[in-house]
Amino acid sequence: MEIQQLNPQNNQQIPANVQKIAYRANILFFNEDPYFKETQEDALTFYKDGLLVLDLEKGTVIEAGNYEEMRAKHASVLISEEYKDKLIMPGFIDCHTHYPQTEMICSFASSLVNWLNTYTFPTEEQFKDINYAKKISQFYLNELLKNGTTTALVFATIHPESVAALFDEAIRLNMRIITGKTMMNRNAPEFLQDTVEGSYRDSLDLIQSYHNVGRCLYSITPRFAPTSTQDQLNVAGQLKHQFPDTYIHTHLNENLQEVDWVKSLFPESENYLDVYDKSNLVHKHSVFAHCVHCTQPELDKMKQIQCGVAYCPTSNGFLGAGMFPYHQAVQNGINFGMGTDVGGGTDFGMLRTLQDAYKFIMVSQQHVENRRPMTSFEGFYRATLGGCKALSLEHKIGKFLPGYEADFVVLDWCVNDIQRLRFENIEKRASTTQQSTATSESLKLSTIKPGDDKYLLQDKLFGLMMMGDSNNVYSTHLAGIKRYQRGNKI
Ligand SMILES: [Zn+2]
Repeated sequence: MEIQQLNPQNNQQIPANVQKIAYRANILFFNEDPYFKETQEDALTFYKDGLLVLDLEKGTVIEAGNYEEMRAKHASVLISEEYKDKLIMPGFIDCHTHYPQTEMICSFASSLVNWLNTYTFPTEEQFKDINYAKKISQFYLNELLKNGTTTALVFATIHPESVAALFDEAIRLNMRIITGKTMMNRNAPEFLQDTVEGSYRDSLDLIQSYHNVGRCLYSITPRFAPTSTQDQLNVAGQLKHQFPDTYIHTHLNENLQEVDWVKSLFPESENYLDVYDKSNLVHKHSVFAHCVHCTQPELDKMKQIQCGVAYCPTSNGFLGAGMFPYHQAVQNGINFGMGTDVGGGTDFGMLRTLQDAYKFIMVSQQHVENRRPMTSFEGFYRATLGGCKALSLEHKIGKFLPGYEADFVVLDWCVNDIQRLRFENIEKRASTTQQSTATSESLKLSTIKPGDDKYLLQDKLFGLMMMGDSNNVYSTHLAGIKRYQRGNKI
């Protein structure tokens, strides 16, 4: 059978009647957490000259593999060479973010409380207007796509309109978005407070209207313990009981002042997590943002439940929350992914988020002699499959295995002079030292030899992780369909 092939031109249109397509590219995905592997490369699949075969009708992956092998096996499938020499990986997962704060990202403040009162609450008030909510929803989801993010767990506001607007736009894009109405009935301005009954009723309506519609999922969302009365937390737990496959999304142990505040508001609770637990809010499908200051009993509980945690380094730094105990979290078996926490976070993208994570993890080991940095494999794992696991979606997204939803990002390894020079240096250096240099005293030397597809991959990904940003995102695809391409209107 004759193989059909698209010319390797940028943005070449795929014929409308095509049901299957295959993309030739460098193809990467993770199968497990590389952290504990003797050779971290064993945790991932990488094809230097690969082919990703998709079923566009179903929006799913048929198979990924070596180009020559896949080409022979799927001889009738149209092949696109548009991404040849680019890197395809599963779309990035943002495990915690606030879409109403899009317009106030990077606002100057001395503390979380000042920041909330000065910028956040007045900004969030605007979302009582459905038209405003629609406008920002479109802007926000487009911003995610520009950054290669294909799934996010998102805070809206107390206004049901804010949730409906985001879900409607996600349905239009066929995007996997999890969000829900913020529940907040105390310790906030009057204009941003709801009531126990009202928050229950609005949440119920939204669950019935949007949960499992398209690829949307609902999260029951008390903002955080201090802004809900015990009664409201209990009502949130009641909703979870009624709809067991919905999510719980809230904040936990973000900064020390907040931890003290929770202690004074809920003196009968053993710790902060226990406040949520007493209201039936700690489950596998619960996702807690930040978790910077967890106690050992809290870590033990989170490990036991395998609830999700969002590590938000840009926000932890920007708002001075503290340093997430990365190694402690991994070694305690905490199920965590990465979050941008926009607008407390300073960037919409996972690449910049990983850059901050890397630096904080280094700084947190300032007194450690034999430091262990976060490798690029660990970073990209957390931004993809690790995030899927934190959201309990690892059986649907995050890998290029048969039947997985075809959400992916196409990245340019280099988009400017310094990235190219840096990239060339990796190969030049390797040819003289004959080994990967991306190792530390506490990590074993890579055993990957020249000629192996994975040779120098850790070094190349490290360059991309530390120097990349949204400019490196060439295109972003949801359920197989291209929804963003750099420099082009779609
Ligand atoms: Zn947050």
